[in-house]
Amino acid sequence: MKVPILLPNIFNHPFTYDSDLNLKIGDYVIVPFGKSKITGVVWDEFEKKTNKNFAIKKVLKKIEVPSLKKKIIKFLNWFSEYNMIPKGMALKLLLLSSNVIEKFPNEIYEKFKIEIKINKIELSKEQKNCLKSMNVSNQKFRVHVLQGTTGSGKTMVYFEALKQIINKGFQGLILLPEIGLTGQFQKKFIELFGFEPAIWHSGVTKKNKEIIWSGIANNEIKVVIGARSSLFLPFKKLGLIIVDEEHDQSFKQDEGVIYNARDMAISRASFENIPVNLITAVPSIETYDNIKKGKYSLSKLDQRYKNASLPNYEIINLNNAKLKTQSWISKEIIEKVNLHLERKDQVLFFLNRRGFSPHVLCKKCFSSYSCPNCSINLVYHKYKQNLLCHYCGYKTLLDRNCIKEGKCDFAFSGPGVERISEEVKKNFPTKKTAIFSSDTMNKKSSLEILDKIINNEIQILVGTQLISKGFHFPNLNCIVVVDIDLSSQGHDLRGAEKNLQLYHQLSGRAGRTGKPATVYFQTYNLNTKMISDITNKDPDIFLDKELEIRRQNNLPPFQRFVALIITGSNERDLEKEAFKFKNFIEKSIEGKVLGPVNAPIFRLKKKFRVRLLVRGQKSLKVQNSLAKIIPKFKFPSGMKLTVDVDPINFN
Ligand SMILES: [Zn+2]
Ligand SMILES: [Zn+2]
Repeated sequence: MKVPILLPNIFNHPFTYDSDLNLKIGDYVIVPFGKSKITGVVWDEFEKKTNKNFAIKKVLKKIEVPSLKKKIIKFLNWFSEYNMIPKGMALKLLLLSSNVIEKFPNEIYEKFKIEIKINKIELSKEQKNCLKSMNVSNQKFRVHVLQGTTGSGKTMVYFEALKQIINKGFQGLILLPEIGLTGQFQKKFIELFGFEPAIWHSGVTKKNKEIIWSGIANNEIKVVIGARSSLFLPFKKLGLIIVDEEHDQSFKQDEGVIYNARDMAISRASFENIPVNLITAVPSIETYDNIKKGKYSLSKLDQRYKNASLPNYEIINLNNAKLKTQSWISKEIIEKVNLHLERKDQVLFFLNRRGFSPHVLCKKCFSSYSCPNCSINLVYHKYKQNLLCHYCGYKTLLDRNCIKEGKCDFAFSGPGVERISEEVKKNFPTKKTAIFSSDTMNKKSSLEILDKIINNEIQILVGTQLISKGFHFPNLNCIVVVDIDLSSQGHDLRGAEKNLQLYHQLSGRAGRTGKPATVYFQTYNLNTKMISDITNKDPDIFLDKELEIRRQNNLPPFQRFVALIITGSNERDLEKEAFKFKNFIEKSIEGKVLGPVNAPIFRLKKKFRVRLLVRGQKSLKVQNSLAKIIPKFKFPSGMKLTVDVDPINFN
């Protein structure tokens, strides 16, 4: 019997093998490939019209693991077509280091089993109403959005929904942005469910991944809380997917196999014919559009915990502030912060920039410190005592011979959180402060710092965007956005949307225990309309406006964008080739090609980068026409094309 076997490699088609085993679609097998033996899956169709003439080899062995369901095969086929990724690479996402894991002895899965001790979830009337509308047509595929301000108790609602599904014997998946996978969240889960969820992200050990993978395939594990990649686990009986913080842009996988985990979660739910719940304080533009069109149902939680209201906001005009040189905190802010501190409020200075200073320059020769691999300035990190490229990781010491004479004499322009922290210490010398960024919070000590923050042992925090994600700080009642103008810059059509999300995330951090809270924005911009737009208590007003701008300009979600990024080491050859490529594909595709243009970060990791943008109708025709023509163009060796469907990042 001839069988089509898909292998976890760069090929977009299954290979034909011979077998006298009794094989069916979805069975995992071991086959010879070249000189090695690899794991593959019996696929749902043979390679189309091949004229290759290989000797057909024999399947070596069937692996005793529950076979891959047809629905998942269909999902992977679609995933591959939509994202323009070879089918083999899609399969690779589902396997564990290109392998499958056989079942361990039962006791290995013991801790994931439901125990008797289950705390009852007490829901408010509003939460009950949301749960009710969430559970409408819960038997099949549908998308429901639960929208509620931070602190309104959304988690309890979807936990309860999940509990009901599990009690019917199904499995559940909670997708979180990587950064949201905190111990706090896990603790809450265990308290309410009485058993441990399986936690899945890139940092999980190989052994634990094996246990989880096999436990999921055999329905021994009921719930996975995971980052993007957990979407590809081989659930035997998946009954519900929950995407928490659905607006979070880190659901987009930007390197390697590029895809948007939120969108793919919706698609997997549709192939599995199961419900999916999207959870958010403020929906993304795409989700909002689908709510408006009636494609997604919606429920809202308006009441915050203990009736806490959202924080007030104040705009501090820096044009009148006469800041001293190399200082960024105005007198007015210092006075206001002192009032908050007297009331025992915790204070956060927010600046989305790691390190001490983003720009280091010699006062004698005027040459700045830039990355030798990327066209970007190195960021000075004072604590680590080095200069760092945030894109490629290049590191160097702050020490350079000057072309004038002797050593360079450095000046630092602009602040990062370390520099703001120094200024804070100068102005509030008796207070305990801490920096909250990926440089300080990635280590083991972070749990200790978190405890100190929660117990109000630290009075002033200086933090990057990291702080806006899912942490609960009960005493935080004052947030100073050091420079709102900074966060509105970027190579991005989503700049405005990002600011809206950021504001709602930040203000969700403040005032969670009912005390009045305030967010202060320092700005040089006299047009404060953007601030009043994003701070409006009703985000729909902003989203409606933004959606209209997108419609008028034919931007997503009204059109499909596909970014084509070509990289190479020779600047001139790259440019020439990019134009040739454009001419080659232009007439054969369903859509219009814009560019090529140099990418905003023109050089990255030693490679030059040129971007093309295809825009077309929202249909698979765009991808299909590209997939047909692209392989016919042969790039010179050393040049590489990356395809990014629905790009978010335009760097
Ligand atoms: Zn670099
Ligand atoms: Zn110099």
